[in-house]
Amino acid sequence: MKLEKIIIIGAGPAGISAALYAARGNMDPLVINHGIGALEKAEKIENYYGLDHPLSGRELFETGLAQARALGVRILDAQVLGVGGFDTFEVHTTEGDFEAQSVILATGSKRAAPKIPGVKEFEGKGVSYCAVCDAFFYRGKEVAVLGDSDFALHEAEELANLASAVTIYTDGREPRFSREHPIPVNTMKIQAIEGEEKVAGIRLETDMSVQEEGEIVPSFMPADGVFVAIGTAGSTEIAKQMGAELTDKGHIKVDENMQTTIPGLFAAGDCTGGLLQVAKAVYEGAQAGIEAGKYIRSLRSGS
Ligand SMILES: Cc1cc2nc3c(=O)[nH]c(=O)nc-3n(C[C@H](O)[C@H](O)[C@H](O)COP(=O)(O)OP(=O)(O)OC[C@H]3O[C@@H](n4cnc5c(N)ncnc54)[C@H](O)[C@@H]3O)c2cc1C
Repeated sequence: MKLEKIIIIGAGPAGISAALYAARGNMDPLVINHGIGALEKAEKIENYYGLDHPLSGRELFETGLAQARALGVRILDAQVLGVGGFDTFEVHTTEGDFEAQSVILATGSKRAAPKIPGVKEFEGKGVSYCAVCDAFFYRGKEVAVLGDSDFALHEAEELANLASAVTIYTDGREPRFSREHPIPVNTMKIQAIEGEEKVAGIRLETDMSVQEEGEIVPSFMPADGVFVAIGTAGSTEIAKQMGAELTDKGHIKVDENMQTTIPGLFAAGDCTGGLLQVAKAVYEGAQAGIEAGKYIRSLRSGS
């Protein structure tokens, strides 16, 4: 596996800005991105410097990609599932694993938590957002993973090493896993996460048509823990997996150089909280790109 200098996760304003500065600093960054983040829903951007007419979020995103590519930046279309490693960072993606000396998290902010009753209420009481962080508490216990994509599968496999049973619940959606796996999947719609002091299980909406055919469908599935892994892994999940500190509002904690509490791990853009605007994401990305370069040079000089 080639050792990259800098891997940037996310190709929105923060990730691309980081890539531009890192590339101009001779760091040959690799950007890994899948999908369009916040800009996908932005109909018109007109409050960013230099725009003499409004651009749609999608146009701005595409322009950013083209600008980075023109500078020779490599952009890989892959979903990042998690980051681990010890001396160097190991980035696990749907297209394989990559290794880097420094990582910049720029995946934007996660969309709202699922509106399933019980998810918010049981946060910290059986509802978790990070398998690597909390799997240990569920040794020998039954757990559920909410999600329908490779991220959910990745979390389920992490839990399967310790839990007695793991089931993935897609909440009525068709699974979108890119590979075969042995983890049981339940596709029924979820009514609520239930319990008293702690999570006790998942209440499913019963499908009357299935019942009429004579099959008995249990509507309550016991579970000691519920892991939320909907959509893709966000920066905060990745940061938490790695043991980086979050602020009390749940954003990634960074210093004035955009470095997290883990040396060599930087974060920029919506994932660090504050003003959720392109201007701030671009500034933080630039800072992170420059500082990640300085970090790499400090490794070389041994200081
Ligand atoms: C409806 C709407 C309107 C807005 N209007 C304005 C406006 O007028 N002006 C303004 O300044 N700002 C506006 N914003 C805010 C602006 O879009 C964000 O502040 C900005 O896009 C944040 O940039 P970012 O790079 O931090 O994150 P994002 O733009 O969200 O980019 C993150 C990137 O990371 C990718 N990604 C996420 N997870 C993974 C993963 N696991 N693996 C690989 N890739 C991943 C995403 O697909 C995305 O490409 C608006 C936002 C919304 C939702």
